Amino acid sequence: MFIGCKAMIYTMDTRNLLVQGFGLLLDPATLTIPVDEFLGKYGGYIDYIALVAKSPEGVAYYPSNSAPRHTSFEGFFPVVSSIANDIGIRVYAIIYTTTDGFLGNDPNFRMVRSGGVPVSGHVCPAQETYWQYIASLGVEVASYDIEGIILKDVVYPHESYCFCDTCRQRFSLDMDLTDREFGLEYLRRAPNLLAKWREARAKNIEDLVRIVVQTVQAEKRIEVLPELVLEKQVGFADGAYAFYGQNFAKLIETTNHVLFSLNPWSQEIPARGTPEYEELLKMLEPYKELTRSGLKTSLFVIQPSESSLETIESIRVHLGSEAVIVQDTLPKDYLEKRSMFLGLGI
Ligand SMILES: [Zn+2]
Repeated sequence: MFIGCKAMIYTMDTRNLLVQGFGLLLDPATLTIPVDEFLGKYGGYIDYIALVAKSPEGVAYYPSNSAPRHTSFEGFFPVVSSIANDIGIRVYAIIYTTTDGFLGNDPNFRMVRSGGVPVSGHVCPAQETYWQYIASLGVEVASYDIEGIILKDVVYPHESYCFCDTCRQRFSLDMDLTDREFGLEYLRRAPNLLAKWREARAKNIEDLVRIVVQTVQAEKRIEVLPELVLEKQVGFADGAYAFYGQNFAKLIETTNHVLFSLNPWSQEIPARGTPEYEELLKMLEPYKELTRSGLKTSLFVIQPSESSLETIESIRVHLGSEAVIVQDTLPKDYLEKRSMFLGLGI
């Protein structure tokens, strides 16, 4: 079939993962056996899967009229989502958001680090045209038979971003600054400005998610799940706000289902009974309360160890989460991105 996809190289027994009731993220770029063979072998164990619809490279795995189409995998999303639906597997579509190797190389959209160095592969989320672009992809993807859309990487990579002309000029005007070439160090010397800067960043991410949710749901009543990053190395929700521009409370107001990414950069799922495990549960406690008033949550984990599966399930049960999506292969540029997202070596 399309497809020349090859089998995933698993770090654990795939069956164990699926029997646990978890769903896999499937990206044709990391497959090593045909997907139909994979579904034939494991389909009976699978309740739901997450199929990449728009890749981190910025290309669509379906015949998009808005995004560039992948030359080999244009049929991946329509074909696999259709097969999955036929055998009773629910499908989530993944749209990589600010990580975008296509638009992120466009000088009008790419992110710029403090100090003026442009960063390829990441899009500045400050522009409304970009929000509309992601929303249009959301509408396209929603035309397929899917459970919901996951907005992956709906973040700034770290606090050194984004200092592009648009971000700096808008902030200078709002704050009446005479210096339009400012960077992060300048803001750090003025705590009130830094606080306003963080507010503005979080507002961009919030507006992006809101526009996508509203536009998609105006067409079709499906769920849109922004990925909220819970990373202990940056201080969980506080770090997500300061570094990634994610105001969890505001983002939760934009939608009714969120995806918590658990320690994606430290890749640690603490064992039950440890202080780290208790700390993670404590961080999730406010959202457990919200699930009682209608918020749905799901979890995302990247390449978990076999021994951590039970712990992940206990977190899911504790939080009352709907789904656990597992990415079982590390993206090829994972280490580079990890350095960027943890602010290492900058
Ligand atoms: Zn910017």
